[in-house]
Amino acid sequence: MSLISKRRLPLLFLAAMLLAAIVALIARRNPPPPAPAPPVPTEPPALSLLAPPPDWSSLEAYQDSITREEFERLLTTIFTTGNAWREFIEIDATEARIKTGNSPSDETFQLRFARTGDEKPSLRNWRTPSELPPTTPEKPLAGLKIAIDPGHIGGAWAKMEERWMVVGDGKPVCEGDMTLLVANLLKPKLEALGASVSLVRDKPEPVTSIRPEDLQTLALDSSDPDDSPAKIQRTAERLFYRTAEIRARADLVNQTLKPDLVVCLHFNAEPWGNPNAPTLIDRTHLHFLLNGAYNDDEVPLADQRFALLHKLLQRTHQEEAVIGASVAESFADRTGMPPYLYPPESPNARQIDGNPYLWARNLLANRLYACPVIFMEPYVMNSTIDYPRLQAGDYAGLREVGGKLQESIFREYADAVAEGLAKHYTFARQPKDPKQDGR
Ligand SMILES: [Zn+2]
Repeated sequence: MSLISKRRLPLLFLAAMLLAAIVALIARRNPPPPAPAPPVPTEPPALSLLAPPPDWSSLEAYQDSITREEFERLLTTIFTTGNAWREFIEIDATEARIKTGNSPSDETFQLRFARTGDEKPSLRNWRTPSELPPTTPEKPLAGLKIAIDPGHIGGAWAKMEERWMVVGDGKPVCEGDMTLLVANLLKPKLEALGASVSLVRDKPEPVTSIRPEDLQTLALDSSDPDDSPAKIQRTAERLFYRTAEIRARADLVNQTLKPDLVVCLHFNAEPWGNPNAPTLIDRTHLHFLLNGAYNDDEVPLADQRFALLHKLLQRTHQEEAVIGASVAESFADRTGMPPYLYPPESPNARQIDGNPYLWARNLLANRLYACPVIFMEPYVMNSTIDYPRLQAGDYAGLREVGGKLQESIFREYADAVAEGLAKHYTFARQPKDPKQDGR
C-alpha cells in the first residue's frame, strides 16, 4: 500500500461508514417483505387437551330414549349458549345427525328420537329417588351413594393452584384444605341420614399420578412461540392441577365409586391480586353450578360435544336442578347470603329455572362425572364478612366472630348441605298419590 493511499485510508473508511448508514436507512424505510406466514390450519383442534377421543358407539344405548322436542329443549335452553351446535348437530323429525369429528370424512352418529310416551329408559350408573329402595323418615338418604369431592388439592400444592392467600400475620387461607375439612364434617352427617359416602380425595395430595414435569412437552406444544419459560411452566402446572387432576378424579368417580350424586365443595373468591397482600372486598355471595351452557368454542371440540350429549341423554340436568334448588334454599335460609349473578348475556353461564342461586356452567368436573353433580360456590374467601370466620377455624357451638355470635363457617356449610339433601330426598321418596304427582 502506497504512502498516499495510507493517508487516504481514514477518508475511505468514513465514506464506507456513510454508505453503510445510507443503506441501513433505506432498508429501514423499505423493509423487506415479511416472510410468508405459516399455513393456518384449516380445521380447529378436534379435542380438548388431555381428552381421549370419545367412544361414540356408547351413545347407541340412548336410541329411542328421548323425544325430538325434549332433546331440542335441553340442547337449546340448558346445554348451549350459542348457535355453533347447528354446524355439528342436524335435527329432523325422526333423528339427530351428530358429527363425530371436524373433518368431512368423519362419521356421523345418528340418534333416533322416541315417540312421545314411548321413550325407552336411559342407560346410567346412578339412580333417581324413585329407583332407590324404600326408606324411613329418619333415613331419607338410605341406599343413596354420595361422593364428596373436596375441591382443589390444598397442602403443599395450594400456592401452585393459586388457591392460597395470607393477610398480614393471619393464618394462610387455603381452599383445598378447607374443602377437605368441610368434607370430613359432612360425611358423618350424610351417613347418619342413611347414605353411603365416599370422598374423592381424603388428603391434601393429588389423585393423579401425573406431575407438571410430565406435561412439559404438551405445555410447550400448546404455548405461543414467544411465551417465556416461566409461562410455559405455568401452563404445565395448570394442566396438572386443573386438567390431569380432574380427569383422574373423573376416572375414580365413574369407574370405581359409581355414586348416585357427586357434591363438589368449593369456597368462592373474587380476584385478590397479590396472594401475600390480597384485596379484601365487603360482600359475600352464594351460587351452585350444574352442567350446561357449553359455548361456541366448546361445542366444536368432539370430546365436549360427546360429553354434552352424554349428560343430556342421561337426564342428569333434571336431577341436578331439583337437588340444587333444595340445597340452595337451605343454604340461603341459614346464611342469608345473596346470590352471585352472572351477566345475562354471558356465553358461559345460564340461569336455571329463574332461580338466582342456580347456574349452568360447563366445568371439567361437572362435565366428566357421569352422574348428577352439584358444584357449590358459597362464601367469598377474600371478603371482610367471611375472612374472620375462616380465620376463626372450626369449633363447636357459637363464638363471637366479626362482632357477632356465629357457628363455625365449616359446620354451617356442612349442615346446610346435609339439610338440603335430606329435604330433597324426603320429599322425592314420599309415596306419591298418582293423581297429585306434580313433580
Ligand atoms: Zn374452588
